[in-house]
Parts: sequence; C-alpha cells; structure tokens
Amino acid sequence: MDTGNRVTGVSRTAIGVAALRAMESRRPDALFVDPYAEAFVAEAMTSIAEDPAVAAEQLDQAMRLFGLHIVLRTRYYDDYLLRAAAAGCRQVVLLAAGLDTRAFRLDWPDGVRLFELDLPDLLDYKERVLAAQRAVARCARTVLRVDLRDDWPARLVEAGLRQGEPTAWLIEGLLVYLSADEAARLLSAVGDLSAPGSRVACEHRDTASNPLLARARATPEMDEVTSLWKGGLGEDLVPWLGRHGWRVEAVDGAELAEAYGRAGAEVDFIGFLTAVRD
Ligand code: SAM
Repeated sequence: MDTGNRVTGVSRTAIGVAALRAMESRRPDALFVDPYAEAFVAEAMTSIAEDPAVAAEQLDQAMRLFGLHIVLRTRYYDDYLLRAAAAGCRQVVLLAAGLDTRAFRLDWPDGVRLFELDLPDLLDYKERVLAAQRAVARCARTVLRVDLRDDWPARLVEAGLRQGEPTAWLIEGLLVYLSADEAARLLSAVGDLSAPGSRVACEHRDTASNPLLARARATPEMDEVTSLWKGGLGEDLVPWLGRHGWRVEAVDGAELAEAYGRAGAEVDFIGFLTAVRD
C-alpha cells in the first residue's frame, strides 16, 4: 500500500493514540476492543515512522504517561456516545476524529449519521488503511477533510448536518492543539449548530497546571508532541460551557479509573465532561 510519508505535524499524534488503543485491545480485561488500531500502527511503522526504533521509544513513553488516560477516555466517550444515541441523538460529529473507529466498532441504533472531521493528510491515510481492512461502518458515515480553524461549520451543514435536530459532539484530544481564540471559536460554533437536546463531551482542566502535561513536557521523547501544544481554551471548560448554554457534568480521572476497575494507577490526569444543551 502506498501511503508515502504524508501524515505530518499534528496529524501524527493520532497514530500514537491508535497505538495505545491497540495495546489496550490486547488485554484480557480490555475496556474496549478496537479491531483496526493494530493495522493503523503496523502501517505507520512501515511507511511513516522515519526511524522505527525511535518511534518505539516514543510510544513507550507515551504509554507510560498517557496510556491510562487514553484508555479511560476512550471507554468514557464510547459510553457517552451510545447513551446520547439512545436518548435520541441521531447525528454524531467527531471533531478531530483522528483514527477513531467508533463508526465501525460501536453498536449504533438505526438511523445514526456520523461525521468525522480532521485534516486531509490524516483522513487520506485512515481511509486507505480502512479500505485495505475492508472495514464496514455500522452507521451512515461521512468523512470531511477540514482544518478546524477554518469555516468547517459551513462544510458540515453542506455535508448534511441538520441544525434543527440534536447532535452528539465529541471533541477528543483536540483543544490542546489550538490557541485560546481558536478553541473558543470552535466551541462557539458547536453551540451555534446545536439544537436543544444536543450533547458534547471533552477533556477539561487548565493545561498549564496539569501535572500529567507538565511531566510530558519534561520528557524529551515527547518533544514531538508537546511542541505542538498551544494551550487550548486557557480556562476551565466547565464554567465556560456553563456560561454558553450547556448543562455540564464533570468527572475526574480517579473517579473514572475506579468506575472502570483501574483504580490504584496514576490518577493525576485531566478530567472529562459531558454537557447537554437545554
Ligand atoms: N480524537 C482522536 C482520538 O482521540 O483518537 C484524535 C486525537 S489526536 C491526539 C489529535 C487530532 O487532532 C489529530 O487527528 C489531528 O489531525 C487533529 N487536529 C489537530 N489540529 C487540527 C485542525 N486544525 N483541524 C483538524 N484536525 C486537527
């Protein structure tokens, strides 16, 4: 398969996340099984990584720092999306979908239309690997190659998002790669496109004071990733969403680790939230 070396910059972070999901999927007590994560990583290791030994070391550090964080958030957002669909959201939008395979692996109710938005290089790579795997989506899936700092709302509406109907939004692992202005613009656009009953889920907490992120910044193998961080919203998302028309429920990493049977491990990671638009 010719994928070239075209997955560059921030898009490469999605491969690291897929690698952590592949590791979790191999555990006997896995909190989810992602049947395509391994294929994304195998392909990246042969066609994208400049030096597989360095890439393996980077993944090792990423696993140590973010393994549990990624695993918990994956399962938490799986549960959130299925709950939102059961509650009547038939539109799902994954902003910065990366190598997310929820369209293929979750048991969606009939009538779900799911949109995946990310940068062109990443989505080209993703579609090639999924096609080689003969993956079949379990809902109506639309892929949109956009820069989420540009006018993506117009593209999404053009592609079929119905603004009068409730939408379940997921913003997973994105905001830290945006500046405060870019993050606020994106979150405001989500609010503007959200009919009553819409939901959103995201990580939260000030990135500057988060000990996990501070440790990552101090880890040389993580430079490629941490040098891309632009700080995100720059204030806690919980009060921000509350002021912008959302009813928020937040959970911290320790609570989630306990709920999913992974208590006792490192707990000082970012919190997670879901919110409903009244
Ligand atoms: N949500 C996915 C997950 O958790 O597996 C991917 C997370 S990955 C850490 C970050 C993703 O954000 C990458 O797929 C990257 O391409 C995307 N991204 C970053 N900046 C973006 C932008 N300006 N427009 C579109 N996508 C962007």
